[in-house]
Formats: sequence, C-alpha cells, structure tokens
Amino acid sequence: MTTAALRSTLTRADNPLPFAPPDIDEDDIEAVVEVLRSKWITTGPRVNQFERLIAEQCGVKHAVAVNSATAALHLALDAIGLRAEEEVIVPTTTFTATAAVVRYFGAKPVIVDVEADTLCIDPARVENAITPKTRAVIPVHLGGHAADMDAVTAIAGKHGLKVIADAAHGFPGGYKGRPIGSLGDISALSFYATKTITTGEGGMLLTDDDAVEERARIMSLHGMSRDAWKRYAGAGSWRYDVVAPGFKYNLTDIAAALGITQLAKADRMLARRSEVARRYTEVFGKCPELQTPTSRPDVQHSWHLYVLRLELDRLRVGRDQFVAELGRRGVGVSVHFIPLHMLSYYRETYRLRDASFPVASVEFTRSLSLPIYAAMSDRDIEDVIGIVMDVVAGYRI
Ligand SMILES: *Cc1c(COP(=O)(O)O)cnc(C)c1O
Repeated sequence: MTTAALRSTLTRADNPLPFAPPDIDEDDIEAVVEVLRSKWITTGPRVNQFERLIAEQCGVKHAVAVNSATAALHLALDAIGLRAEEEVIVPTTTFTATAAVVRYFGAKPVIVDVEADTLCIDPARVENAITPKTRAVIPVHLGGHAADMDAVTAIAGKHGLKVIADAAHGFPGGYKGRPIGSLGDISALSFYATKTITTGEGGMLLTDDDAVEERARIMSLHGMSRDAWKRYAGAGSWRYDVVAPGFKYNLTDIAAALGITQLAKADRMLARRSEVARRYTEVFGKCPELQTPTSRPDVQHSWHLYVLRLELDRLRVGRDQFVAELGRRGVGVSVHFIPLHMLSYYRETYRLRDASFPVASVEFTRSLSLPIYAAMSDRDIEDVIGIVMDVVAGYRI
C-alpha cells in the first residue's frame, strides 16, 4: 500500500461538493413564475429590460439577447459578413463553440497557441497567423481573465481585422477599467447554467456598431425585418417581411426574467468568488507543488474558473489521477479546456500537431479547475483546501 492510501484521511465523499451548481434563489424562482402567470412568455418586455440593463453595465450601445453565446458568436460572424474560405484566428485553449461557429460559414478557424500565464490567446501568435484571407480574431477571456485586448486590437487594427471577444466567462469582469463586453468590435456573453450569471441557456451580443446590431437582431429571428414591418404598419399587425434566411436565436421572457434577478446579484456573487479565489491562492501560493492562477494588475477578474496547475516534476502523480483522487474524496473538479488541437475534428481536419502549440499542450497536462461559486460556505472552501493539500502531501516527491 502506498503512504498516500494509508494516510488518506480528509474526505467529503459522504457529502460531495459539486463543481458548479447553478446559484438559484427564491427571487429568481418568483421572477420566472411571474412571467409564467403573465401570459407573455417568449421575447417581450423582460428581454428588452435585460438587454438595457446589460448594455448599461457593460458600457455598450447595443445588447441583443439570444439563446446562447454560440448563437451570439454565429450572429457576430454573420454581421461582419464572413465568407467561405476566409479565416478567423482563435486560441486553442477554449470551448469548441469558439471555432465551430467559423465552420458554419465554410470558413477556416486558424488555431493558435496561448500565453503561459493567463492561457489567453498570444498576440504574437495572432500576428504570425495573419494571411490575406484573415477577417477576424476571437480572443477568449479564459476563466474570466481578460485576454490582452490592447495588443490584440492593435494588431487587428493594423491588418483591418475585426475583433470578436468570446466573453462567455468574462461577465462581470473588466480590463484596464473598462467592462468586459465593451472590448473589441463585438462581444458574446454566455448565460449557460454554469456561467457567472445564468438564464438556464442564454447569451448576449454586445456592440457599439449600429449596423451590426440591426443585422444581428434581424438574423436572430428568422430574418424578419422590423423596418419592413413598419413599412406595412398601416396594413395590419400580421404583416411582416423577410430580408434573409435567418436563424431562431431569440431569448424567452422566462429566461430573461431569471437573467434580471441574477444580474441584480452579479456583483455580490463576484465578491464571494473573489474571496474564494483569494483564500485558495493564500494557501496554494505557498505550496511549491502548485501554481495558482495569474491575475494581471490591470485586469478585474470575473473568477468564473479557478485553474490550478500542478508542478508535475515535484509530484509522483499526473493530473488525471490527481483529479480522480479529488473526485473520490467528494470534491467536484473539471478541466478547462482540452485544447482544440487535441480534439479529433480540428486535429484531423487541419492536421494539427501538439508541437505547434507548445504552451497549451503542456499546460493542459497539468491544469485542473476547482469549485468556485458564491454559494460555497467557508467550510466548503476549507474542505477543498484541506483535501487538495492532503492529496499533494500524499504524492509529494
Ligand atoms: C460556455 C462557452 C461558450 C458557449 O456558451 P453557450 O452559451 O453554451 O453557447 C463559448 N465559449 C466558451 C469559452 C465557453 O466556455
């Protein structure tokens, strides 16, 4: 028997801590029930209100509510007029949706490596990947830490590229005093169940560009044109025109009502996540077997994820076994993300090799995400810390 097995003491196996449960209170439930009783359940007044509140908080002119961040990214690429055979630069450390939306157009996602400290897109790699076919770049604010947006937008500006931020993790964070969502030409927020605020499923496209907003709004609802409706206003409310074969991406009032109550506590939830991160880093920062997440001084982290990295040369255990051990002891953990170049579709379609992504390939093998959410009690936090430190102690070289 190993010493680890013998001394294995700390556990929450009898009362497991989930990795990322949705944070739903009575006020969320009441707001949804109120919409259900109102007889108007799909896109309507609650969606309009949610859009205005998010636009205000993110400091942008327009917010278009949709039913996912994936939809918002798709609409963003449609609004910039992306065409087949063109290229869009994306980081390898992200969720598949960031790159999949590029394929919706028959265009090519050009996948590049990330920076070692933040795991966000490396601006130098962006510059090297630009070709005459490049139309846009999609930085991801990974885990809630803003990408190096000044560097990315400077490069984009020099080469006439659009910047579409995948801000699925970013709300309500900031960058150099500016809200996430106001950076680049267009941003996409996610309100998926595990994100920093949730509508169950939902997303938001943010932009200051009037033409992008108009196109996104039309394409989010069947390509039906409001202006065309107005032209027929005198002819009856049943009249509409269709100007393009659009999508069905609108958000419901049921979801938006949840979004509004979630938004009201977004700052309080962020304060608690920041406290969780601070406490984790206070302890793990002193442990030579662990590397704590970077938070650059000019970034206001949203702390959607707390990505802990293992110093593998100091441990007799790999990441997979470390994660399994935490799971056995009742600590819900995950890994963000399996880099795109390691997923068979991207790997085979674009013949990608790990050697072209030296940073992401290595960081992936030693990363894991710990629970971080507002509903965690002090006891939960101390349990996670104690169990992580106990596992480290069991495998320390
Ligand atoms: C969750 C996520 C998305 C997709 O969000 P949906 O709202 O589920 O479509 C996109 N990008 C990243 C980085 C994500 O984590």
